Amino acid sequence: MKAFMERLVSRAAGQGSLGKAAELAKIQKEKEVLEEHLERLQLLANATKVLISDELDYEKRLKDLGEVVVPAFADWCAINIVHGRPSYTLVTSASPEKRAIAEEIQRKYPPRPESTYGISDVIRQAEPRLYAALPEDLMRQTTQSEEHYQLLRQLGIVSVILAPLVARDQILGGITFVTSDSGRVYTEADLDTAAQLANSAAISLENALLHQELMEANRAKEKFLAMLAHELRNPLTPIRNSLPILAAKGDDDYEVKDIVDIMDRQIRTMSRLLDDLFDVSRITEGKIQFQMEGIDLLALVQSIIQSRRAELEKKGFKFSVYLGEGPLVIMADRVRVEQVIVNLLNNAAKYTPSGGHIALECGREGGQAVIRVRDTGKGIPPHMLKKIFQLFIQVDQSIDRPEGGLGLGLTLVQILVEHHGGTVLARSEGVGKGSEFVVSLPLAVSPLPKTADQHPNRLVQDSPRRILIVDDNEDAANSIGKLLRKFGHEVQIAYDGIAALEEAKAFAPEVVLLDLGLPILDGYETARRLRSAVPDRNKLLLIALSGYGQEEDRRRAMEAGFDHHLVKPFDTHELRALLNAWTPDRS
Ligand code: ADP
Repeated sequence: MKAFMERLVSRAAGQGSLGKAAELAKIQKEKEVLEEHLERLQLLANATKVLISDELDYEKRLKDLGEVVVPAFADWCAINIVHGRPSYTLVTSASPEKRAIAEEIQRKYPPRPESTYGISDVIRQAEPRLYAALPEDLMRQTTQSEEHYQLLRQLGIVSVILAPLVARDQILGGITFVTSDSGRVYTEADLDTAAQLANSAAISLENALLHQELMEANRAKEKFLAMLAHELRNPLTPIRNSLPILAAKGDDDYEVKDIVDIMDRQIRTMSRLLDDLFDVSRITEGKIQFQMEGIDLLALVQSIIQSRRAELEKKGFKFSVYLGEGPLVIMADRVRVEQVIVNLLNNAAKYTPSGGHIALECGREGGQAVIRVRDTGKGIPPHMLKKIFQLFIQVDQSIDRPEGGLGLGLTLVQILVEHHGGTVLARSEGVGKGSEFVVSLPLAVSPLPKTADQHPNRLVQDSPRRILIVDDNEDAANSIGKLLRKFGHEVQIAYDGIAALEEAKAFAPEVVLLDLGLPILDGYETARRLRSAVPDRNKLLLIALSGYGQEEDRRRAMEAGFDHHLVKPFDTHELRALLNAWTPDRS
C-alpha cells in the first residue's frame, strides 16, 4: 500500500503541469492520511500481539503493553489498576528523566479515587477523554499540592488522553497517554485509537486476572488438602499402633482375629488415600526431594511381584509377569517408582472383577525402560483416557461407586513419572475391554547400579532399650508405649517438652521418641536441650516424630540434634529397624 502511494505521488509530480499541482497536493494529503491509518493499524496489531500472548502474569502484560505504546503512540503512559487490589500503577516512558518524575508523582500523589478530575473521574464515568492541550486550570484542579503541580509542569505535557479499562461490566482501571518532547498533539482519531487500545487491554487484563484468581484458589485448595491429610493422618497413628497389641491378644480367638484383619485392611486403605492426598499436594508444591540413585528396575519389579503376587492370586486374579533381560538401570527414587507400580497394580485389581487377568511387563523398548500393567477389567471410554490423570477425575463419579477412591492415584503416578523424566499413558479398546497403562522411563547412562540391594531390610530380634516417648497426643504416646513395652523395651511417657526434660533427668533414656509439634516447648527446642545434656550420639538416640515429612522439617530436625525423622503414622517395622540398628554405648 505504501509503495503504491509513493508511485502515485511520483507519477503526478512527473507530469509537471500547473493543473496537476492540485492533484499532487490531494494525493499527498491522501498519502498522509493513509500512512496515519497504517501506523494506527500497526500499533493496534502490536498491542494485540502482546495482549493475546501466552503470558498470563498480569503485571508482565501491562509492562509489555506500555512498551508497545511508548514511543509509538505516547511519550509516556501510566496504567492505573483499581480492581482487586487498592491501586497498582505502571509508568512507561521513553525518557528516563520524565519517567523518574512521573513515577515520583505516582508514588507521592497516587490518583485519589474520590477525585472528580483526571483519571479517577474517567475511571468512574467509564468514558475516554481527550485534552489536545492541557488547560492550566485542569493542571491546578488535578494536582494535590504546589509540589505536585510543579512536578507536573516539569513533564512539559503537550497532549493527554485518558481512557478507562472496562471489561464486560467491570471497571479495572484506566490508562493515561501523554505526549511531551515529541510535541505530538492528539486528535479525535487518536482518541478512537486510545479507546480501542484500552478495550483490548481491558479484556486481556480481565483474562489474566481470572487466571490469577484461579491459581490463587488452586493454591488455597492444595494448602487445605495438605492440612486435611495431615489432620486426618494424626488420629490414625494410635489406632494403627494399637492393632498389633489387639492382634497378639486375639491370637486364638477367631472373632477378634477377624475384626483385627478388617481394621488392619481399612486402616491401610485410609492411610494410602491420605498418603496419596498428602503426596500430591507436597509434590505439586515442590516440597518433596527425590533420592535419585542408579537402580535396577527389573530387580525392583521382581521384589514388588514377590510381595504382591500372593495377595492378587488370593483375590482370584490370574497374575502373569513378563520380564525382559536385565539389568535395566534407571536413575530414580526407588520408593517413588515402587509407588507408581503399586498404584497401577492396585488400580488393575480394583477395576477388574475377580477371575480376571492382570499382567505386568517390564523391559527395554526403543532405548527406554518400559513398564506395562494390563488388565481384562472394566476398561476406559476413549474420551476419558487422558482425563483420568487429572486430579479427582474418575470415570464413574457416582457416590455409590463400588471401588471407592478419590481419583488421586493416577495424578500421583503421572506427577512421579514426569519427575523422573518419563511419561505415562492409558490405553483401552473401550468399556468392558480391559486397560493398559504404559510407563516409560529414561535409561541411566551408567551401566550398573552402584548399590545393589542384596540385603533387604530384615528385622533382627529387639534388644531392650530405655525409651522415653514424648507426644501431646496422649492416645498416640500411650499406644506406642504399649507396643514398645511388648517388644521388651523399658518405656516412660511424657506429654510435653518440659515434662520430658524432667523425666529425662530421672530416667536417663537411651532413646527419645519426640513429637515435633509440642505445646509450650516445641520438639526442636526440647531436642536441642536433650542433646546438649547428652551430646554423644552413641549414648542418646533422638528420633523426631512429625506429621509433615517435608525436606525442610527433616533438615530442621537434624539441625536440632535429632538422628532420625519419622513421619506419622509411621510403620512400626521402620521404628523397630531403627532401634535395632543402633547399639547404645553403655560404658
Ligand atoms: P481412583 O481409583 O481413586 O478413582 P485414580 O486416579 O487411581 O483414582 O484413577 C482415576 C480413574 O481412572 C478411576 O476412578 C477409574 O475410573 C479409572 N481407572 C484407573 N485405573 C483403571 C483401570 N485399570 N481400569 C479401568 N479404569 C481405571
